[in-house]
Amino acid sequence: MLELIPTHLLYTGMGLPQENAAVVFSEDTIAATGPLEELRRSYPYALERPTAQVIAPPPLNAHTHLDMSSLPFNPLGYTEWVGWVIQNSSSRNLDSAMLGLKLLKRPPLSGFGDIVARAEVMRYLLSEVDRPGVAYWEVLGPNPDDAERIFNETVAKVREFRALERPGFVRLGLTPHTAHTVSGVLLQKLVGFARAENLPLQIHIAESPDEWQLFQSGTGKLAETMERVFAKSITQILGTEPNASLTSVGQLERLGILEARPTLIHAVHVTEKDVQNIARAGCPVVTCPRSNAALECGIFDWPLFARYGVEVGIGTDSIASGESLNVLDEIKFARALYGERVPLKTLVRAAVKGGSRALGLQSPIVRRGDARAGLMDWTGFLALSNE
Ligand SMILES: [Zn+2]
Repeated sequence: MLELIPTHLLYTGMGLPQENAAVVFSEDTIAATGPLEELRRSYPYALERPTAQVIAPPPLNAHTHLDMSSLPFNPLGYTEWVGWVIQNSSSRNLDSAMLGLKLLKRPPLSGFGDIVARAEVMRYLLSEVDRPGVAYWEVLGPNPDDAERIFNETVAKVREFRALERPGFVRLGLTPHTAHTVSGVLLQKLVGFARAENLPLQIHIAESPDEWQLFQSGTGKLAETMERVFAKSITQILGTEPNASLTSVGQLERLGILEARPTLIHAVHVTEKDVQNIARAGCPVVTCPRSNAALECGIFDWPLFARYGVEVGIGTDSIASGESLNVLDEIKFARALYGERVPLKTLVRAAVKGGSRALGLQSPIVRRGDARAGLMDWTGFLALSNE
């Protein structure tokens, strides 16, 4: 039996999503994709189904913290929220990550990128989870005196984890936490190592106004907390003095980190020059719109990044800041946030191709003759009005 499903947007993984399109399925196979009227003419006997909003390959969730899945959603200012997470760090364990993996089953995904802070979670993801993705081993270390020790520990851990990788499933990556919680000297060592080992990188960057202030002047809530907890000045941590022309992205540029093409998470507080540097280096960016709103971080300037041709993926961040692990909830939220400044076409492409680029995974492409499961009807998940 042939079925024809009209759709407002169709994305096959190639080019841009097309409007007023359709898909024809022959049982479990994709028989054709293309303009609606053309397919109606070519398949006059196909059974026509109700119109979908979006048909596309399953999306990717390019940034999660699965090990925080047992923490409740807790919208607080960024610096207060980080303090609350640290107080509850004992709940970041394997049970919590397994709960997150369960939640990550709906909608189906073409891949996920997870930040991993516990060895037990990393071992489980690499050896037990039969899904494509990247698990980034998280490293913190603001005190430059600890750089050598932490670096050596990281190398030993990576060697252990590498032995667990299985082709086609979760890949090992590395994530120096941020440009202010990892000293400049450790950041350079970690990124040099990742390049030599061909490990994909993610770095949280330019997330909150407090972080912006830390780089610009070494003052504010975040800077004060860091100096108190780590007994080091911001100048010692960064390896340079905060100043009005220093930004988080500028710190990465200064240290040669952008050349390694890390995937940058958030990138909310950036200058136009930062965006130019990101574009020139070819770094993908992942945005987590709901998390940015919940933690009062501001709004990612998507149109600016689009103007410079930066590849943008979408992630949910943790449940504790993003409320759910459903990446299509981010699209719903982004529709309301940006309106026509970021068209649905752009969001759909970002959730599929942008996410693949951000994780260094093969981007899904569907052709006639492929299995029906290569395409997913996003309508029920998006439930967008007036589209
Ligand atoms: Zn995050």
